[in-house]
Amino acid sequence: MPQPSARTAGFTDSVIRRMTRVCLETGAVNLSQGFPDFDPPAALIETLKQAAGGTEHHYAITWGAQTFREALAAKQSRFMGIDLDPEQHIVVTCGSTEAMMAAMMTVVDPGDKVVVFSPFYENYGADAILSGAEPVYVPLDPHTDQFDPDQLDKAARGAKAIIVCNPSNPTGKVFTPQELQTIAQVAHRHDLFAITDEVYEHIVFPPHRHTYLATLPGMWDRTLTCGSLSKTYSITGWRLGYVIAPRHLTEITRKVHDFLTVGAPAPLQEAAVTALRFPPAYYQQLLATYNAKRDLLLDGLDRLGITHNTPQGAYYVLVDISGYGYQDDLEFCEDLAAKVGVGAVPGSSFFREPVNHLIRLHFAKRDETLHAALERLADMPTLRR
Ligand code: GLN
Repeated sequence: MPQPSARTAGFTDSVIRRMTRVCLETGAVNLSQGFPDFDPPAALIETLKQAAGGTEHHYAITWGAQTFREALAAKQSRFMGIDLDPEQHIVVTCGSTEAMMAAMMTVVDPGDKVVVFSPFYENYGADAILSGAEPVYVPLDPHTDQFDPDQLDKAARGAKAIIVCNPSNPTGKVFTPQELQTIAQVAHRHDLFAITDEVYEHIVFPPHRHTYLATLPGMWDRTLTCGSLSKTYSITGWRLGYVIAPRHLTEITRKVHDFLTVGAPAPLQEAAVTALRFPPAYYQQLLATYNAKRDLLLDGLDRLGITHNTPQGAYYVLVDISGYGYQDDLEFCEDLAAKVGVGAVPGSSFFREPVNHLIRLHFAKRDETLHAALERLADMPTLRR
């Protein structure tokens, strides 16, 4: 038999998405893969129905339907404080998963080094391998979540790009303007592209504030900003994401995207224009909702004596399981699902370093679901060995 590709041997299927399947098999409350169990805003469902009865059932323009790009440019210009041109600066993709892959393929050649902070969202590892890049990891301090600028500088020597997930999945770290300034200086010094994953841009808990790396002096020309509608409008299944970049980069990203997927779903782009035109109050409400869910989960964990970090943004929390006597966090998560009835993601799927004492839960769930999960987590001590 011929051998399948060697490059695919370098990574496994996604552990995050595998844990959702484990939850389905075991009936566990799924706090693993980060997606809501509540509906998107009613206005969006309405426009989706209208889109179904409309005329947009065939390919949109490959880099995004005109109306969608216009609405997205207007919304992101407002939040980013940059005057974005829908004709030049936007490539609409099938989720930010494709956006990240297309951004990588835009700037990286086989053999190039790409700087990644560890822990990191697991897709970046596979993105790097699939595009032939070699990741170079810069650890975030486990206690402070900060990076060492000298270590970053060293890692960036001879690299082609840096990936910045802000707010960070899985730690919930929100990079400060000073940290982003340091990253920008390193990018200039070593002539790097920056690829950002900013899908949690609207889930940043005060007093923390979101800063877009592309808005720092001199960064626009070398940054590909990846984003998505999935988390902001609770429509993870619609698969709508985008790359925002200057024209000399979007020209290339458009080509990559065209041959990867041709385009994001046309009727869904049409329907989502409504969301992109939501007033500022929508984003305040979204944040208030997630702030309350964060408090619900964290207070519940505190009451149960379960040790955890405090996320500054995004909707994940890392729980410390070092007292449980497990060497393997995947095994812990399998037991947690089967015996306690709660789905979590093993922390090791996010770390370059041999870290096995953390699991990731998320709180993008209805309050009833979070209460049910907490009730079950009261049994977590039974897993102690
Ligand atoms: N970002 C989500 C998570 O980390 C999942 C997204 C996905 O599975 N595509 O759980």
